[in-house]
Amino acid sequence: MARLIDGKAVAKAVRDEVARGVAAFRELHGRAPGLHVVLAGDDQASAVYVRNKEKAAAEVGMAGQVHRLPSSVSESELLALVQRLNADPSVDGILVQLPLPAGVRSNLVLDAVDPGKDVDGFHPVNVGALWAGLPGLVPCTPRGCIRLLDEASVKLEGARAVVIGRSNIVGKPVSALLLARSATVTMAHSKTRDLPELCRQADVIVAAVGRTKMVRGDWLKPGAAVIDVGMNRDENNKLCGDVDFASAEPVASVITPVPGGVGPMTIAMLLENTLKAAERRQGRG
Ligand code: NAP
Repeated sequence: MARLIDGKAVAKAVRDEVARGVAAFRELHGRAPGLHVVLAGDDQASAVYVRNKEKAAAEVGMAGQVHRLPSSVSESELLALVQRLNADPSVDGILVQLPLPAGVRSNLVLDAVDPGKDVDGFHPVNVGALWAGLPGLVPCTPRGCIRLLDEASVKLEGARAVVIGRSNIVGKPVSALLLARSATVTMAHSKTRDLPELCRQADVIVAAVGRTKMVRGDWLKPGAAVIDVGMNRDENNKLCGDVDFASAEPVASVITPVPGGVGPMTIAMLLENTLKAAERRQGRG
């Protein structure tokens, strides 16, 4: 039976660490790190995500603001707001919540964010830095995955890792992070042949697909570490992952549940990234 990795508990420990860091930063610089979120349009899910981020930032003592804009906002108005936030020295982190309203080119807006304030780590400069092994801001969910593996004392050096999914927000960055830790990484995707056989060779599996319970226990090597990034709804509308937990748990050595695994880590890592961005901007990081 696998050991469960408790993402809620790890996320709480990270948030506590960040709160201490924020207090020290305030002591030193006379201000709190500032996280600014741009929320344009009336997407219900985005509104909930942003409220959670706003609440979590306030809880660790960060400053900042949510800039709420109507769905009629133009691309040039959004770009002007981003430029204003880039120029404001009290702003350390800028997060543009996606999706942006129809007609706005998201890439253009994301690319306008100062890479030093890009706490989502999506700017091409940060993407390049990650793959080149240079300092930069790294996407939150992938960092959360690695932190969970570390908390579970999973040895990454020399491990065979299979990452299922190659998105820019999860699959690719988590692969880069595993590679940086000297795992031997295979990135699988929808065109991969014989995925179950590939998975059976893996010491570490990260599933970031978006398909309910796709990875089954008989796909796993006994003792594999399993990180389930998926956030899906099953036939009863219950939140579930990309891994079939019931069949995987008896085979794996450690496994993240859904909910309560990777999910809570994303906001915790966003707070950590904001503190890091603030410290770097003060020339200490
Ligand atoms: P995405 O952009 O839709 O990417 C999905 C990836 O899965 C693609 O690379 C796709 O391959 C691959 N794929 C699809 N069907 C496959 C199959 N049958 N076999 C192998 N690979 C397959 O999704 P995402 O944004 O990375 O998110 C993935 C999951 O993670 C979703 O459930 C999402 O809700 C969840 N998520 C959770 C968090 C969190 O916990 N905080 C954060 C982000 C995402 P192709 O590239 O070939 O199409």
